Amino acid sequence: MGVVDLHVHSSASDGEESPGALVQRAVEGGLAAIAITDHDTVAGVAPAVADAAGRPLRVVAGCEFSVAAWWGELHLLGYFLPPQDPGLAEFFSLQRTHRANRAEEILERLARLGAPVAMGEVVRQAAGAPIGRPHVARALVVAGRVGSIGEAFARYLADGGPACVPKVLPPLEAVVELVRRLGGVTSAAHLKERAGRGTLARLRGMGVDAVEVLHPSHNDQTVTALRTLAPQLGLLKTGGSDWHGGAPNGHRHAAIGVPPVPSEWLDALQRLHLERHPP
Ligand code: AMP
Ligand code: FE
Ligand code: FE
Ligand code: ZN
Repeated sequence: MGVVDLHVHSSASDGEESPGALVQRAVEGGLAAIAITDHDTVAGVAPAVADAAGRPLRVVAGCEFSVAAWWGELHLLGYFLPPQDPGLAEFFSLQRTHRANRAEEILERLARLGAPVAMGEVVRQAAGAPIGRPHVARALVVAGRVGSIGEAFARYLADGGPACVPKVLPPLEAVVELVRRLGGVTSAAHLKERAGRGTLARLRGMGVDAVEVLHPSHNDQTVTALRTLAPQLGLLKTGGSDWHGGAPNGHRHAAIGVPPVPSEWLDALQRLHLERHPP
C-alpha cells in the first residue's frame, strides 16, 4: 500500500523541473509511482523512466490532453500511452502547430496592450515544449513587462483575460478513441464545480474510463461527491498534485504527492489497461 501521484508536469511542457528532478523528488518523498502527465506531449516520459531505473519508483506514461467537451475546454488525462506510437506523434505534432500559431496571436494582443515580448524569448522559455501560456508569462517577466508569473496571468493571460486566445481543441471523442486504440485509459481532470452526476454519466457514456477525484482544486465536498459517484457510474478514480514546480505563480498547485493517492487506484487503472492491451 503506497502513495502515488498521477498528475505531474515536467519541463517537457510547462513544468519547471526536468523529468529527472521529478523522479528524484518523488523518490525522496517515498512515492511508489508517478505519472508524467505533460500538456500535449509524452517527451518527458522516456527520460523519467530512464532515471527511475533501479530505484523504487514506477513511472507511468501519461499525458494531459486539452480537448473540446460540450461545454468547452476539458483536460483529459491519458495513462499507459506508448510514447513511441506514430499516430500519437502525429496528433501531438498537429497540436504543437496550433499552439505555436496561438502564441503568435497572444503576442499580437500583448503588443496592442502595450506589453510586447519577442517570440524568440517565448520559444527560449518553452525549450522545445509545446508552447503554453506559462511560457509567455515567463517571457513577460524576463522582458520586465510584469513583476511575476502571477501578475502576467492576472493582467493578461488568465482565462478570459485580454491576451488569452483559446486553443484549437480536438473533440473529446477523438482523443478518447485514440487513447483506447493504443490500449490506454482516460480520466477527466479537475472537473471542480462541474463534477455532478449528469456530467459524469455523459462522460462515461462517451468512453471516459475514470475521473480525477483528488486534486488540489477540489474541496472536501467535491471529493466526497466524486468518491461516491465514480463507483456508481462505473468510473475508476485518479488523483494527483498537478505539480508544476515550486515557484509561486498565483496558481494553486500542490506539492508532489499531495493530496496522497492510494496505489490501489493505479492498480485498477493498470488492470483495465492490461485487459485492453494484453502483454
Ligand atoms: P495553456 O495550456 O496555454 O492554456 O496554459 C494553461 C496552463 O497555464 C495551466 O496548465 C497552468 O499550468 C497555467 N495557468 C493557468 N492559469 C494560471 C494562473 N492563473 N496562474 C498561473 N498559471 C496558470
Ligand atoms: Fe500546466
Ligand atoms: Fe489541467
Ligand atoms: Zn495539469
